[in-house]
Amino acid sequence: MILTVTLNPSMDSIYFTDTFTLGEMNRCSNPVKAVGGKGINAGRTAAILGSDVTTLGVLAGINGELIQSALEHEPFNTDFLAISGESRNAVTVMDQEKNQTEIVELGPEITEKTAQQIIEKVIEFSSQQKKRPIIALCGSANTKNERLYQDYLQKLQAQLGSEIKILTDISGTQLQYVLQGTTKPFFIKPNIHEFAELLGIPIRSKNDVVEHLNHPLLQGIPFILVSCGGDGAVAKYNEQIFDVIIPPIDIINPTGSGDATVGGIAFAIDQGLSIEETLRYGMACGMSNALEQAVGYVSIESVESLKNNILLKEI
Ligand code: ADP
Repeated sequence: MILTVTLNPSMDSIYFTDTFTLGEMNRCSNPVKAVGGKGINAGRTAAILGSDVTTLGVLAGINGELIQSALEHEPFNTDFLAISGESRNAVTVMDQEKNQTEIVELGPEITEKTAQQIIEKVIEFSSQQKKRPIIALCGSANTKNERLYQDYLQKLQAQLGSEIKILTDISGTQLQYVLQGTTKPFFIKPNIHEFAELLGIPIRSKNDVVEHLNHPLLQGIPFILVSCGGDGAVAKYNEQIFDVIIPPIDIINPTGSGDATVGGIAFAIDQGLSIEETLRYGMACGMSNALEQAVGYVSIESVESLKNNILLKEI
């Protein structure tokens, strides 16, 4: 079982345009609308692959109502808390050159009270299950508490035991504090840019990633996946380091590929698969998402076939 937490769901609009010119009228005939948010996308991916998934988080205002009704058609269970404010819109413009421009609203504030209510829900849900779920904490939160996710990790381990497997797909200051804390997540997935930002070091290639995987900030995290877009990924699992090589594909829309990767990883961990199979699922899901117009969506058929073309080179 997998539980994903999304503190900032969104109504996503993707506009595919021939050209996108600043300061001019840009028309779009085929907008794609979908519910987004990293935990929702990751949960959708894992559910499509066959996991029993519940997604939990906050929804607000009219967008919140729209999101809630859209979620009723999803392949997972939901348990969202209604809060004040307005769930955010996120707009992506993709032109023919595959340039991607994004406008993303901040989203409703997660107050201390809301943060507490959410963690109580997560603990209550997890305690009720026969087996502890894998918990994925995904995405940004509009909060004044820069240590919100660090607090969550501490509370989750204190209440659910140190064996609980927590995956985090977060970035910026929240990730910094998580890594500085004494309670470590089982898994993190920065992309190469987030990895560079995290360490405050210019990182230009997979070789640079490998060189810095033993950085003190990363100590104690069993599973680190630095995703590198079309270049695959570099992974560290305990003492093993892998160069994860993917074949070139004709992408349609890579938005949400990282979320799909996290969903694929969560599915594979939930199934108790080997690290090699887990990495193949993660990559194949990211790629499958990039082959779809929809965001945070994968097809089982493409995942199963892409999985066979992923090369793992242990370093
Ligand atoms: P994020 O979406 O978090 O920025 P990435 O862009 O690194 O993460 O993508 C995550 C994974 O999705 C990659 O490791 C890869 O498997 C797949 N992916 C993303 N972009 C591409 C691409 N252009 N071509 C092939 N696969 C891609």
